[in-house]
Amino acid sequence: MTEDELGRLREEIGRVTVEMAKLFVRRAEISSDIGRAKKELGMRITDESREDQLCDIVLGAYRRGFGGRNGGSGSGSTVDPALAEAAISRLLNFLLSESATIQSRHHRDGEDNPTHLSVFQAAKRLEAEEGRQVIHMEVGEPDYMPPDAVATALSESYGRGHIRYESPRGVPELLDALAEYGSKRFGASIGPGNIAVTPGGRFAVFAAMSALLNPGDEVITVEPAWPAYRDCAAYAGARVRAVQASLDESWMPSIRDIQDAASTSTKMIILNYPNNPTGAVLRPDIMDGIMEIASDRGIYVLGDEIYSEYVRGAKPWRSVASYGYHNAIAVQSFSKSHAMTGLRIGYAMADGHVIDKIASLLSLCMTSVPAPVQRAALSAVGQDVSDNARTISERLDALESEARKMGMEYAKPEGAMYLFARVGTDGARLAGRLLSEYGVAVAPGSGFGENYRDYIRISAAREDTNRLIEGMNRLKSMLDGVYT
Ligand code: PLP
Repeated sequence: MTEDELGRLREEIGRVTVEMAKLFVRRAEISSDIGRAKKELGMRITDESREDQLCDIVLGAYRRGFGGRNGGSGSGSTVDPALAEAAISRLLNFLLSESATIQSRHHRDGEDNPTHLSVFQAAKRLEAEEGRQVIHMEVGEPDYMPPDAVATALSESYGRGHIRYESPRGVPELLDALAEYGSKRFGASIGPGNIAVTPGGRFAVFAAMSALLNPGDEVITVEPAWPAYRDCAAYAGARVRAVQASLDESWMPSIRDIQDAASTSTKMIILNYPNNPTGAVLRPDIMDGIMEIASDRGIYVLGDEIYSEYVRGAKPWRSVASYGYHNAIAVQSFSKSHAMTGLRIGYAMADGHVIDKIASLLSLCMTSVPAPVQRAALSAVGQDVSDNARTISERLDALESEARKMGMEYAKPEGAMYLFARVGTDGARLAGRLLSEYGVAVAPGSGFGENYRDYIRISAAREDTNRLIEGMNRLKSMLDGVYT
């Protein structure tokens, strides 16, 4: 090839790229119009059957040679068809994830789609501006205190000189302690090199997803789900394939649905058990099945296990770490188990290759988790926190009893801190009225997935049993008013 020919190819690739950028912007405009239309028509943002249809249309067009004009599999292209199809799928996933982000701008949190956090902020405003005493049944923040050892460790940190930069993975003593604890507690073989200490479980989820996912990858989640998984996937440019769990199946996802959702682009499956918002613990045979699908295909499994100290049913709970699978990542946190939400500390447990990637991100973003906080966590590792689990379980019993009297439909929470109940009306509207007129904050179900609009999540974390019962009575008064 001559330099002139190379020059011509470069010009050509420049023209094609400009054309693609133009089409990309046009696509974004159309996406925005669709988002507006969906809002006006009261429709959901994600429509997975429509997304699948679009993928079929595009891949079908490629296979037919794009009408014989512009390349495609049938036109004597020099690109390997399998590679071309994989590239098209990645591009489509990226475009679909972009569309979801653009369309969701028309459905902002706190406006059309309030989440537990936006309700919490509204409740805080009512308290600050109008001096009202809200009953907080919306957030998963414990009202009890961390173990005493935590206070001591924090106050001693300064005198002991624990006020300097630390390694991005965590202080060695904490890594050793977590490795020993994790090996025993989660039935796994974990060394200090398998751990990265993070500022809360949220950052561990974000870091794992950002470090492991690329634009165009797919992530399987089980909805209803903690909303951050979708947000982190969007941030990484990955497309979410949500498998829907249902109350009728006690919130157990079907293995068949997960199998059907898995494609060559699937990079990660996210499991969150005990589950927020449903309180479900995954049935062992389903968990085994999912791990098998993942290991057959080399898919990462992210186990968000921050409620693992709050298992209350007879069903055994098992960590993803216990499978010895090299692509499993278990996320843990001191926030719920030890009531240390504001200290912001959690950790990821995984194979060294994953921990290296998470540690690079930690190093880039924050150097290290604050040293005194790590010492506080070190003092908390292995402390008996079973009283916390008992407290939450008793509160859930009380919530269940009130919900039953009110005829609400729900599945008995087998763990975590929440009751996810069907209320037979729009959960977001209910939450808005309940807060403004009755001073009770609950989380609307739509924050956990678009199919759960007629649900609310009631948290047992923040108020004692009497206040929870009072909150449920006020909810009853409101619902009686609605239906009589
Ligand atoms: N994962 C789930 C399922 C949660 O519900 C939460 C908080 O509510 C988190 C992770 C984050 O917890 P933290 O960052 O405080 O450890």
